[in-house]
Amino acid sequence: MTLRVYRARWVLPISGPAIADGAVAVDGTMVTWVGRAADAPPGAPIDLGAAILMPGLVNVHSHLELTAMRGYLEDLDFRPWILRLTKSREQVMTPERRRAAARAGIAEGLLAGITTFGDVSDSGESLTAMREMGVRGVMFREVFGPHPAQAGEAVAQLRAEVERWGADATPRVAVGVSPHAPYTVSDPLFVATADLARELDLPLAVHVAEGEAEQALVVEGRGVFADAWRARGIDVIPRATSPIALLQSLGVLDTRALLVHAVRASRSDLDLVRASGAAIAHCPASNAKLGHGTAPLLAMIEAGIPVGLGSDSVASSNRMDLLDDARLAVFQQRVLTGRADAPTASALLRMATLGGAEALGLSAAVGTLEPGKAADLVAFPIDPLRDGPGFRPEDTLVFGAAGRRAQLVVVDGVELVRGGALLRDIRPDLAGVAEAAEALERLN
Ligand SMILES: [Zn+2]
Repeated sequence: MTLRVYRARWVLPISGPAIADGAVAVDGTMVTWVGRAADAPPGAPIDLGAAILMPGLVNVHSHLELTAMRGYLEDLDFRPWILRLTKSREQVMTPERRRAAARAGIAEGLLAGITTFGDVSDSGESLTAMREMGVRGVMFREVFGPHPAQAGEAVAQLRAEVERWGADATPRVAVGVSPHAPYTVSDPLFVATADLARELDLPLAVHVAEGEAEQALVVEGRGVFADAWRARGIDVIPRATSPIALLQSLGVLDTRALLVHAVRASRSDLDLVRASGAAIAHCPASNAKLGHGTAPLLAMIEAGIPVGLGSDSVASSNRMDLLDDARLAVFQQRVLTGRADAPTASALLRMATLGGAEALGLSAAVGTLEPGKAADLVAFPIDPLRDGPGFRPEDTLVFGAAGRRAQLVVVDGVELVRGGALLRDIRPDLAGVAEAAEALERLN
């Protein structure tokens, strides 16, 4: 196969400094060379012109099947928000509607430069959608069950689901597990799910330390979640000194878990996370919009914890755009800490690529542009009016390029987006999403 040589005004390998007038050579599915265009090996040249070429973005936390619920759950407090979400999903979201929604979510992500998804699903349908659309990802199959007596049955069902979807897994799309959160999962179910993850060597993701009501349930055995559990006949007692300490005591952290949110992470929580080898999914837009607060991102970075950037579902954040999330994350931390020197745009771009790959256990394959890694690439156009003059491409992307459509997206050497448009037969099935939205509307 002919070597393809992509040239661009800037190449950001992430593993090293930005390269002006750079090039990336791709042979089949792999990157084989990165450097200055003038030194590039011979091959078929593809000149992207005024563009920034970099590794594909890694969205470590999405709920692709909830794409049909964008705008459906506005301005609700967290418990009514999640109750409405869960109830309407159960009533309306058939497997076909879920798959249509997931495809639309993937299309949105692809056009925003996302090539890898860490997607949490309570059905598994997003795995099929990721396969169909040609992207990379992990589908974390969710499990719920607040009643300790449900744990055995719940984990048996989870095992069956993992086997079912595992049969469809590929080198590009893998299966994981996700015990949902401390307010929907009993301690025995956490233990059993962590055991299953260890036994089958599966990645695990868990929502944790997100909001005040979860904290009150775990630490004091009070609050709206505690009241709801008691109403269902479940004994509620204080379980741990913090939600993260709870996961540590139940053996969940040391599955190299991906901790989603970690808004309420104290210094000692972060010490536990670092010692366990767990990673964090930072979801700044969702955390802010639902009123949960600002996670201590700088402290996480300084503690040496792997951190990736997540959009969360568009039911909570309304858009899937990691450049927008990166800008928000920097601004939030600077408001929180009063510092102007950190985090930097470079730190956020690392988080949106290599950090995400590390958090999903995929950093041997993706996250940087280096020979031997998979050819997952994205190029963003430089807009002379909005970006000019611009001195460092990292700052151009993080501080000014939110909402920009990718000019080129490549996964495993296959071009999926060119000139801001989806290629091949991958289509978002917007009619399927509209049909699901009409069904949601009828519930009111
Ligand atoms: Zn989530």
